[in-house]
Amino acid sequence: RAKTAGKNRYEFYTQEMTDQAFERFLMVGALRNAIENQQFVLHYQPQIDLRDNSIIGAEALIRWNDPQMGTIPPSRFIPVAEKTGMIQNIDRWVLNTVCHNIHQWQQQGYRVPRISINISARHFGSNILADEVAAILDHHQCSSELIELEITEGVIMNNPSRAGKELKQLREMGIRLAIDDFGTGYSSLSYLKTLPLDRLKIDQSFISDIPEDKNDQAISRAIIALANSLGLEVIAEGMETEQQRQFLIEEGCLYAQGFLFSKGVPEHSFLSLLKKV
Ligand code: C2E
Ligand code: MG
Ligand code: MG
Ligand code: MG
Repeated sequence: RAKTAGKNRYEFYTQEMTDQAFERFLMVGALRNAIENQQFVLHYQPQIDLRDNSIIGAEALIRWNDPQMGTIPPSRFIPVAEKTGMIQNIDRWVLNTVCHNIHQWQQQGYRVPRISINISARHFGSNILADEVAAILDHHQCSSELIELEITEGVIMNNPSRAGKELKQLREMGIRLAIDDFGTGYSSLSYLKTLPLDRLKIDQSFISDIPEDKNDQAISRAIIALANSLGLEVIAEGMETEQQRQFLIEEGCLYAQGFLFSKGVPEHSFLSLLKKV
């Protein structure tokens, strides 16, 4: 009996793995196509100064518009792209597109704020990021001060010494560095004092239940205090309500991004929010 069950299970897993492998195979093809056929677009979500509502930056957020499947959110394809190695191509496309846009916008006379770009764990650990970024900036004549790279805590913990080297190289180029989803990863706080970081982004899961959740209040308050006393900038993600805004101001967090001000919007809508020089 056990043998039969075991055999069934074996077959079941084999079938499931085949399906998964096949799905992954299809997805890799689809992702490659998406880059070639320009099915990706970037949306830009403004980051604001809570004191005067001015736009101090924006985060580039990728969107995939497939003619058949419609809009596919990054939560569905970024993890697959990471597993299959396609993420390097996607990150490179995002870097190129942002730098191209920045240059274009400046040519059109816009006062362009700093743009934040998400860099995946796999790409960051690859040891080629800094050189790649340098080449892309150069190619588009894009100034490094206008670029911020967002990485997660996990990226650093994977290989702290290599991460440190890569961050240092990027920082020397004049690029700003932020920790995304801060507080959600497995990490040690000691890296905060040794690595060349500029900014912590409080994860939206700590913001979304404020003011009801006192624990989230306590955690957010502690992150703000930590950042402020280490001389790091702190920005809250996912600010949706006026009460959250009040809370952040009272606790000394100067910057936020979230639906209360704006979600990520297409390029033309983002440009309409910018001033001309
Ligand atoms: P993230 O970097 O933490 O990005 C913030 C996510 O929160 C975005 O979701 C944004 O639309 C969403 N968000 C912002 N404000 C609010 C709010 O007030 N309420 C709510 N409910 N959500 C808010 P999105 O665009 O779906 O991206 C999800 C994740 O996918 C990102 O999390 C990031 O990890 C990844 N991702 C997005 N674009 C890129 C990209 O170009 N490259 C890479 N490697 N990853 C990306
Ligand atoms: Mg991000
Ligand atoms: Mg985040
Ligand atoms: Mg996230």
